[in-house]
Amino acid sequence: MCVAQVRKISYDIKSIDVKIFYMIAQYSTTVAQKNKIAENTYQLLITKPDDFSFVPGQYVFLDFPNPIYTDDKPSFRAMSIASAPHEKYLMFVMRGSDSAFKRNVMESNEGDPILVKGPMGHIALPQNVNQPIAFIVAGVGITPARAMIKHEEYQKTNRQITLLYASRTKNSIALYDELRNISLQNYKSIFTLTREEGEWEGSRGRIDAEMIRQNIDDIKNTMYYIVGTKIFVESMKEILEDLGIERNNMQFDNFG
Ligand SMILES: Cc1cc2nc3c(=O)[nH]c(=O)nc-3n(C[C@H](O)[C@H](O)[C@H](O)COP(=O)(O)OP(=O)(O)OC[C@H]3O[C@@H](n4cnc5c(N)ncnc54)[C@H](O)[C@@H]3O)c2cc1C
Repeated sequence: MCVAQVRKISYDIKSIDVKIFYMIAQYSTTVAQKNKIAENTYQLLITKPDDFSFVPGQYVFLDFPNPIYTDDKPSFRAMSIASAPHEKYLMFVMRGSDSAFKRNVMESNEGDPILVKGPMGHIALPQNVNQPIAFIVAGVGITPARAMIKHEEYQKTNRQITLLYASRTKNSIALYDELRNISLQNYKSIFTLTREEGEWEGSRGRIDAEMIRQNIDDIKNTMYYIVGTKIFVESMKEILEDLGIERNNMQFDNFG
């Protein structure tokens, strides 16, 4: 029984010790809204528990205490908080799938109970408010970037902020309009599509060294946030290393 429990937890937590997992604060709250915001992409807004605080870029574990669906996987999933601390709700954005957890999300309704465990994670904005920052993200890897960008917008910062956001198709870009219209003077967003066959006014193709060089002015002093699948994170890390970026100017969030 005990062994099965440990296996189940290690499936999703990866680097977190099982004992620590049980010590992480847990909050009972409710679903406020569920919206389909792009192709097979869902936004979950959760009522923020009164005593819950976090820094932009952190993640939590979400769990449904009374799930409609169950399967042989854990009932919880790690999810980056896509909202900034000043925003009313905790926002999450995720792709749909046929896992029990995702089916519970896709069929959730306002008022459904949900557990939030956390916050966790070490990604953080640089304390030096003048250091340029760049987000190199793919797919739902946009979530912690959105939290940090909205936080910067709220703080009205002047630093150079660049978003390089890769998606497969136009319809699968999450939060496109919002991220194009961030009201910061030194903010630039580049959306690139890897599988779009129709018309598209933006960039096409994978993020590569050339795209990074073309869009980021102070390439050496920028703090880079790379978020997406393991393969994406590893390939972007290699590109940044080849460009001579120092390791302490890179932060990673690997979604698996
Ligand atoms: C720190 C962190 C933050 C994250 N933030 C987000 C976020 O903001 N948004 C988000 O969408 N995700 C996020 N994730 C990923 C998330 O936790 C889930 O792993 C992901 O959403 C997939 O969940 P799922 O239930 O759809 O798939 P799961 O059922 O968990 O499957 C995970 C993967 O395994 C594969 N798989 C499943 N079953 C099988 C099988 N039987 N055989 C072969 N392959 C299989 C699936 O194709 C899938 O790619 C984050 C992960 C981490 C670690």
